[in-house]
Amino acid sequence: MMSPDVASDLASPARDNGLIDTLRRRRLNQIASIVSSGLTVALIGYGMDGNWLLAQYLVLALASMLSCLVLNAFRKTNAATVVFLVSLTTLSSALMWVGTGINDVALLTFPAILILAALLVPPRIFFLLLGGMFCFLLFITLATHTFSWRVNGYVTSPWEDLRDSLTILTVSGLVVWLILNDLQKALHSLQTQIESLKESQENLTYLSQHDLLTGLPNRSLGRERIERAIALAERQGTSVAVMFVDLDYFKSINDTLGHAAGDEFLKQVAHRLSSTLRQSDIVSRHGGDEFVLALVDPADEAGVSAAAGGLLESLTKIFTVKDTDVSISCSIGVAMYPHDGHDYETLLRHADMAMYQAKESGRNAMRFFDAGMRTAAETDMHLMTGMRTALSRSEFVLHFQPVFNLVDGSLLGAEALVRWQHPERGLIAPAQFIPTAEKTGFIVELGAWVLREACLQAERWRKEGRSDFEIAVNLSVVQFRRGSIEDVVRHALSISGLPPHCLELEITESILVQDTEQFLVSLRGLKALGVKISIDDFGTGYSNLAYLQKFDVDKLKIDQTFVRAVLDGPKQRALVVAIVQMAQSLNLCVHAEGIESNDVGAAMQSLGCEVGQGYWYAKPITAQEFSVRYCGES
Ligand code: C2E
Ligand code: MG
Ligand code: MG
Repeated sequence: MMSPDVASDLASPARDNGLIDTLRRRRLNQIASIVSSGLTVALIGYGMDGNWLLAQYLVLALASMLSCLVLNAFRKTNAATVVFLVSLTTLSSALMWVGTGINDVALLTFPAILILAALLVPPRIFFLLLGGMFCFLLFITLATHTFSWRVNGYVTSPWEDLRDSLTILTVSGLVVWLILNDLQKALHSLQTQIESLKESQENLTYLSQHDLLTGLPNRSLGRERIERAIALAERQGTSVAVMFVDLDYFKSINDTLGHAAGDEFLKQVAHRLSSTLRQSDIVSRHGGDEFVLALVDPADEAGVSAAAGGLLESLTKIFTVKDTDVSISCSIGVAMYPHDGHDYETLLRHADMAMYQAKESGRNAMRFFDAGMRTAAETDMHLMTGMRTALSRSEFVLHFQPVFNLVDGSLLGAEALVRWQHPERGLIAPAQFIPTAEKTGFIVELGAWVLREACLQAERWRKEGRSDFEIAVNLSVVQFRRGSIEDVVRHALSISGLPPHCLELEITESILVQDTEQFLVSLRGLKALGVKISIDDFGTGYSNLAYLQKFDVDKLKIDQTFVRAVLDGPKQRALVVAIVQMAQSLNLCVHAEGIESNDVGAAMQSLGCEVGQGYWYAKPITAQEFSVRYCGES
């Protein structure tokens, strides 16, 4: 029987030559022992019969078996195998020679020896042995019948023949069974390994094609399926609607409920998306909170609109995540094959552009792609490349608009406003490039440059005598989302030497309304540096003013539209009064933007607004002009 350790060795996938050698050694030991037992049985039989000639042969054969076992014990398995096979063949041949020639039962051992040889030794030795057997049988036949060199020896009784045949059969049967048993086990273990390999291959394929969190096809399988749907639509002359779905404000779920809840939520979203569409449609997770869907052969655009409407509606229904009710919306962009593109890449890019438009239109909306979007995107790309070159060629300049104390008219500082000094188009206003810089992320680089330049310039003016000079710099929401704004500000302060309290960072209400954990951390980090924070264009953003209590801001800059209208009537005036009173009650400084006349300035001051800027006092001017006008430089 095969020992359990050998069986487990066989089942182990990491079988090496060392293991096979051990196995061969053990088998040879067993086989030689079984054969020795058979020889001993025969020896006893012939001893009892008084057939000493055969008994002598058997003793010699037993001695050979012993040397085989010794060689094997010394790990000379190959030599031991050869000794084993040769001595058995010789013994059988000798028995035939002294017995009844080729009619002797000893001939029975030849096939068994050949089976063993086929399993244990290389083909060369096997064929040598086979050749040897052939030659011996030819030789004994010729020796008996042609040359009469021998006559058939002793005549055995039928019982002796039966005994010998049974011994030979039992020994060969046992040995063959042992070897075949090994083979069967090896085959079985091979089969198990093949099956487990197949299974792990299937698992790997699944893992490489699916999103582990939601179980949806991942980006690559999604692409493959959509490409197949496009190919089918091309053959059948039908259409495919590729949808780019992006969740609105998903980040706030992660920030407020934690990532585990965020994951759970995404799973539920995936389930809703899949169950809202037809079985034949495609739903895949593109990454993060983005999903790419495809409607296969939709009836018409109205059908696509209806399906997208269904998706919007299903996502706006309340989700329950970890016992908390959560509501969300999404923005969907749609590009149609063949109308908006013929390949996956183009359709996805166009659906993405349309999704962006849906977001811009106020979210929770769906937009079809149209060619205008592509032109706009191309213009953005063109402008962005231009801006990048412009930054490296120092084409951006800062203009400074002075800020005054409205009570005594003294200069408090300035707001730094960026412009692009284009070599051909002249001076370009920020309204023409800031939105694109924000959309493309370039504002992170540009904003860092603005901060550095503004701080350096303010420190120069402080050194020239304006020791209380405060510089205000506008920040974009993108700088909070993508850049490490604290590091940028810290760096600007450190290389310029400007004291932090002389730097005021202007953020808009749209930044505050993000209200994410990351934003709060950034804002706290900025405050910890000692800089001031003001809210720019106050009043144009969101009606919910709760954020004012939450964030530690220093100043409100009332938007120009309110300031300009302050003298237009009692309602307009009441609005300004309300803002000023609220700011005062929160202990915030109030700053009027866009003062275009003396009367407006006076009105704002009388309503309690302490600080202001506007064309009435001065437009934004270059640093040099500013120096001449306000820092006494000639
Ligand atoms: P803002 O921060 O509200 O800047 C005030 C804008 O109002 C400036 O326009 C200024 O020239 C203009 N202004 C000031 N006083 C008057 C006035 O009496 N009447 C009128 N009609 N306008 C007045 P500008 O320089 O064109 O900047 C526009 C906007 O571009 C800024 O609005 C700001 O949001 C953005 N911006 C400018 N520079 C930067 C910057 O470096 N980074 C970022 N992120 N945004 C910037
Ligand atoms: Mg501003
Ligand atoms: Mg403003």
